[in-house]
Amino acid sequence: MSRFPYYDEYEVHRTMPDEGTPREEILAMMDDMASRENVVWEGGHCSGTMYCGDHDHYDFLNEAFSNFSYVNTLQRDMCPSATKFEAEIIAMTLDMLGAGALTDKNPGGLVTSGGSGSIAHAVLAYREANPSITRTNMIKPETAHPAFAKAGHLFGVDMKIAPVDPVTLQVDLDWVRANIDANTVALIGSAPNYGYGTVDPITELGALALERGIGLHVDGCLGGFLLPFGRELGYDIPAFDFSVPGVTTISADTHKYGYALKGTSVLAFADQSLRNSQYFYLTDWSGGKYCSPGMDGSRSGGLLAATWAAMVSLGRAGYLRYAKAIFETSAAMQDAIRRHPSLRIMGTPSFLFSFTSDEFDIYLVNDFLRSRGWRMNGQQYPNAIHMAVTRPQTQPGVVERWTLDLADAVAYAKEHRDEPAKSGAIYGGVAGGMSAEADEFIRAVMADMMDQQASIPPA
Ligand SMILES: *Cc1c(COP(=O)(O)O)cnc(C)c1O
Repeated sequence: MSRFPYYDEYEVHRTMPDEGTPREEILAMMDDMASRENVVWEGGHCSGTMYCGDHDHYDFLNEAFSNFSYVNTLQRDMCPSATKFEAEIIAMTLDMLGAGALTDKNPGGLVTSGGSGSIAHAVLAYREANPSITRTNMIKPETAHPAFAKAGHLFGVDMKIAPVDPVTLQVDLDWVRANIDANTVALIGSAPNYGYGTVDPITELGALALERGIGLHVDGCLGGFLLPFGRELGYDIPAFDFSVPGVTTISADTHKYGYALKGTSVLAFADQSLRNSQYFYLTDWSGGKYCSPGMDGSRSGGLLAATWAAMVSLGRAGYLRYAKAIFETSAAMQDAIRRHPSLRIMGTPSFLFSFTSDEFDIYLVNDFLRSRGWRMNGQQYPNAIHMAVTRPQTQPGVVERWTLDLADAVAYAKEHRDEPAKSGAIYGGVAGGMSAEADEFIRAVMADMMDQQASIPPA
């Protein structure tokens, strides 16, 4: 990855150009960059991130987006279409997540900016619904997403970190039970977690939450739009949705396996009263009475339109068909791993599998796979690598290539077992190692990504 992307090919803008650049020139440049960057994932070598991977589908969503891209959904009187799209995205998601079982409740939802947004709004809602508690806390399985820690940090909600069983990689229920205190407002379970693809025991967590009179958030950011269809296809996936007593909120990312554009997710509430606890309004501002349902102010109507278009154009049959191919591909890729006694699959995964080795550093396998164009995600404690299977992997030939490349990678790892691996575990794909100076290092990497001083070459 170049430190100064494209600087040697395209003009560098340190200030705004004096005269506008012709549109065709701009579009040609972007077309060139996008087609070169698409090559990284189009062949099916990249874990997660490109969930649909179908350019026809993306073109269709972009067209839907373009009708409303410039509309601000805060001004609802000007865009009744946004109200329709948003309400129906929420209704379709609630139905998919089993809200039909909630006959004694009034289910509802929020469309947010992404998984982190849905998680943040859930954490905020549990805090706001418990105004008598000065310092609330939630119990987060160690494997649950960092977005919970981030939300806790932002909103002053403590996250008690529950250990997971090292074999099943599911949260330790006894620990959770023993650590609920008077300030605990909700439990968390993942369906599934990002690291291992394992589903926490949601039924047991729900029973515990009901017994203690607290909430249960199920993080279905990744699996929310895939596991329901996997269950329907008969895969062995435990219940995780609103059919489970005690589940009070579920996050499900439309911008992952909902196959929508990046920038939307649904936070589903078993009952609207919890959602309504977290609205913000300022009624005595000189600028007028202000209210917004979530943390965002202005939002693009295009994202609601594109998300709605994705769901309605695919329909249940489309989601089922895609899910079938993904689950079958994942199973075939896992079979290839099981053929190597030196490799070990972690827990009981589904469409996302993680594996490690007790014989060598698994990052040696990753080093080799990278040389063949594979882009896996890395984990630590213990070192492991994972693949979230998406539609690009379901293309013909990908499983066969995986099987061959994995065999070569294992041979490489055995041969180089005494050497240190080059790759390491970082969520976003930014290269680099971890050390005792991780704090300084990470701040520097993040600053580099966003800082014009660091990403634009000196004049
Ligand atoms: C992706 C993900 C999130 C966070 O979602 P963003 O859309 O990246 O903000 C949360 N939980 C899980 C399990 C995820 O996979």
